[in-house]
Amino acid sequence: LRGIKKIYKIGGEELAALAGIDLDIHKGEFAALMGPSGSGKSTLMNILGCLDRPTCGSYKLDGEEVAGLSDDALAVTRNKKIGFVFQNFNLLSRITALENVALPLVYAGVGRNERLERAQHFLEAVGLGDRGDHQPNELSGGQRQRVAIARALVNDPHIIMADEPTGNLDTKSTKEIMEIFEHMHEMGRTIILVTHEPEIAACASRQLLVRDGRITRDEGKGVVMDVV
Ligand code: ATP
Ligand code: MG
Repeated sequence: LRGIKKIYKIGGEELAALAGIDLDIHKGEFAALMGPSGSGKSTLMNILGCLDRPTCGSYKLDGEEVAGLSDDALAVTRNKKIGFVFQNFNLLSRITALENVALPLVYAGVGRNERLERAQHFLEAVGLGDRGDHQPNELSGGQRQRVAIARALVNDPHIIMADEPTGNLDTKSTKEIMEIFEHMHEMGRTIILVTHEPEIAACASRQLLVRDGRITRDEGKGVVMDVV
């Protein structure tokens, strides 16, 4: 990211949710974004995840400039490269866990049998091989989040983004979810995660602090940089 700004206009007033972000995240990094409520973490994640576009600035993803792409082109890039995990799971309530996991493959045009086979594989990978027939309301919070992680992985994306993925979970489920993220990191995936909890940020190899729409601290592998 170079000079990324996100300006919202509310009733004639301008609000800079991101006030100029310069950031390099390398392949295979596990980065945690921290910072106070309203500091711009989700706004930054949404831009990194191609869910939203900056007002100005440059964003190169795998060398491709994506800041100026059309909605459709942005969606294609997103579906190909990025898997998302949200705080509130964002599962569809009227279909089964297995069908939820298979959903991204519908959009990717994969045939039904292969969809269900791949979905089953990823449900097993998160320890829920025997829960495929359950609907989300028949699962615990931690199990729902594991279904959401399986769904994020089913397309085999290289980048996983998670906004407060353990915000609604108890200690035991949080530990299980973080073990899955650590495993994905070991498998070489790039992970970017927003959290309020220092113990969770400590699982990452790099900790970034966001304040007032800027990155004010960049800490990792023993190196601390205060960015002014
Ligand atoms: P939290 O920790 O509470 O989730 P955050 O760091 O994720 O906070 P953002 O959601 O990125 O914060 O919001 C950053 C700022 O931008 C806030 O002041 C917020 O009010 C504002 N904002 C976010 N989305 C919009 C929007 N769609 N329209 C206008 N202002 C917005
Ligand atoms: Mg947020």
